[in-house]
Amino acid sequence: MKNSILWILMMLLGASFLVGCQAKKTDVETFAANERLGRGVNFGNALDGPREGAWGLYLKEEYFSTVAEAGFDTIRLPIRWAKYADVYEPYELSETILSRVDWAIEQALANDLNIIINVHHFDAIMQMPEIQTERLVAIWAQIADRYQDYPDSVYFEILNEPHEKLTNELWNPMIPPVLAVIRETNPNRYVIIGGADWNNISGLQTLELPKDDRRIIGTFHYYAPHEFTHQGASWSSAGDSSAVPWGSEADVKELQSAFDLALAWSESENRPLFICEFGTFYAAPLAARVAWTTAVRAEAEKRGFSWTYWDFGTDFAVYDLGTKEWREPIFKALLPE
Ligand code: BGC
Repeated sequence: MKNSILWILMMLLGASFLVGCQAKKTDVETFAANERLGRGVNFGNALDGPREGAWGLYLKEEYFSTVAEAGFDTIRLPIRWAKYADVYEPYELSETILSRVDWAIEQALANDLNIIINVHHFDAIMQMPEIQTERLVAIWAQIADRYQDYPDSVYFEILNEPHEKLTNELWNPMIPPVLAVIRETNPNRYVIIGGADWNNISGLQTLELPKDDRRIIGTFHYYAPHEFTHQGASWSSAGDSSAVPWGSEADVKELQSAFDLALAWSESENRPLFICEFGTFYAAPLAARVAWTTAVRAEAEKRGFSWTYWDFGTDFAVYDLGTKEWREPIFKALLPE
């Protein structure tokens, strides 16, 4: 009797040891998957606009090779899926958007780029989180099903910038059902998730991720200080500010302590961090934009955060769609070598 109890105990211990080792191995793989994301750009204001092209970017084949040849690793492709999903069950996505996204993914893969596809500008869920959860889950069921056979250089990001009524209190319980539907068809897919409060670092503090899902990469957006990065942007609360400087010792310290706070989250959760968005509106003073971009990029990389700059070709652009040239000072701040 005693022997068999001992035997069972040893089996249990052995099993939990193996589970622990597996979790650790997966964590190492997830950190590596984040490292592979490296440096990238957002193809923003294309498929996230009211229609493609309306906000300044209509995707072209040449953009993918231009980004790859310049030395970037990743494209983040924001998509306004909710616009293309029925408002009634089963919330079917239109074939038009699906085939456009198929094409974009194929372009990225053909150019050896990673691609992140997300749910962007889902305005209704910010206003009516409880009512729209089912729709978000259904949208992800369809995306996950469609792309399940793609390589792991395709990453999913479940929702851009939860805000307004979608606080962490409501966002936290929304994450497990979305993940569950993704995991049905994509058990090993790397999934990117950030906190509420517009994906600010503050939103990470009360974000609750399912502990046993180890293929999650955390994210935050960095646009601080807003009056500096968004000065002159008519749609922003900082629209009226102008000539706001950046670059004092205190400014740099503020950036460093914000990133230290993010790093502390990453260490305590044992999950890597990826910055999905950071950038400055074109109207901010250029020298300060360059200083800010250089500093944010360097401080991120010091802490092992990978990133995608906002954005490729529109109002925060690193690339000039007209002349088909990189905007040198911002480009060099991102890829100094
Ligand atoms: C929004 C863009 C905006 C950018 C900078 C993004 O998350 O989707 O419309 O230009 O943030 O504020």
